[in-house]
Amino acid sequence: MSFDQLASELVSRKRADLYRERRVLESPQQPEVVVDGKAYLAFCSNDYLGLANHPDLIRAFQQAADEYGVGGGASHLVSGHSFHHHALEEELADFTGRPRALLFSNGYMANMGTVNALVGKQDAVFEDRLNHASLLDAGLLSGARFQRYLHNSPESLAQKLEKTEARRKLVVTDGVFSMDGDVADMPAICHTAKVNDAWVMVDDAHGFGCIGATGAGVAEHYGLSVDDLPVLMGTLGKAFGTSGAFVAGSETLIETLIQQARTYIYTTSMPPAVAAATRASLKLVIAEQWRRELLKSLIQRFRDGCQQLGLTLMDSPTPIQPILIGDSAKAMTMSAALREQGIFITAIRPPTVPQGSARLRVTLSAAHSEAQVDRLLDALERVK
Ligand code: PMP
Repeated sequence: MSFDQLASELVSRKRADLYRERRVLESPQQPEVVVDGKAYLAFCSNDYLGLANHPDLIRAFQQAADEYGVGGGASHLVSGHSFHHHALEEELADFTGRPRALLFSNGYMANMGTVNALVGKQDAVFEDRLNHASLLDAGLLSGARFQRYLHNSPESLAQKLEKTEARRKLVVTDGVFSMDGDVADMPAICHTAKVNDAWVMVDDAHGFGCIGATGAGVAEHYGLSVDDLPVLMGTLGKAFGTSGAFVAGSETLIETLIQQARTYIYTTSMPPAVAAATRASLKLVIAEQWRRELLKSLIQRFRDGCQQLGLTLMDSPTPIQPILIGDSAKAMTMSAALREQGIFITAIRPPTVPQGSARLRVTLSAAHSEAQVDRLLDALERVK
């Protein structure tokens, strides 16, 4: 069988301005990056607190690599669960105010493993229609009856929950929506779930480190305990500047995941040095409140500037600040025009976002300066 059919699908994708391309980063992940040999000011990383290159993290990583080597060497349940993994799990449980936490190699796997350990064929899963792809994939793969409710709508969720008979019901939502930047109405979602005898799982990939009084994310932001919000998932590759993910919750939840989550059981543990660097990162997330404050002021500066330029933003208080363009080709043209101006921002198109809502996904970081945000605004004025 030849690949001709696949080749023509690729051509159609290109014609529809939906072709995905990679660019080679030749510098660390920081505001000033080198991409394909050219210097740019970047507004597209998830290094929200500017920790990815922090000397404390690098030192902790190097020291742990000296002591523990490079690879995890085995899965957690065989012989890959090292001192640093264990200590990080205890520290994350403490930080999130949950009895226990469990590390996964990345967020995609944490979502896949958790949803599939909790629900199966006799059950029902309810997902916000704008949930991250990994949550949607996890729900679909689980075999549970899969239902999507209207974006951030507890009313739409309630209507679906009330009508469903199932052994178990699981409600799943992003905490901060990855393509829009808005924050889920967690108190109402948790209440709706509780009165309908359903569990709630939140994916706080983009809130963890950024929101909440000490950066513990959406659960802290709304003051939700483990009883209100039993399944809390967070990732470490964004505000925490490293890599990996965790799920925090009750003793029973974590033991169930250790026994049942296939993406936990059947994979090599993250390198111990990554766990050690994340421990250093957690200390900074807690101690350096100024990073969240600076980020907040940069977000406000950017939003004020965009308003003056007449650009359409979304209702987002977080570092994810998409500029809505609509048409995919236009979003691509603007992204290319910004690159000409030395600014690196990626255009996000369907199917990652709904049809007709292509956007320039600007992300801000505490590593940016006010002058850099102003440079971005100047470039936007020239290309808009
Ligand atoms: N959930 C959300 C909301 C995300 O944005 C992402 C990453 N883009 C993930 C999960 C996956 O996390 P990871 O990159 O650690 O696999």
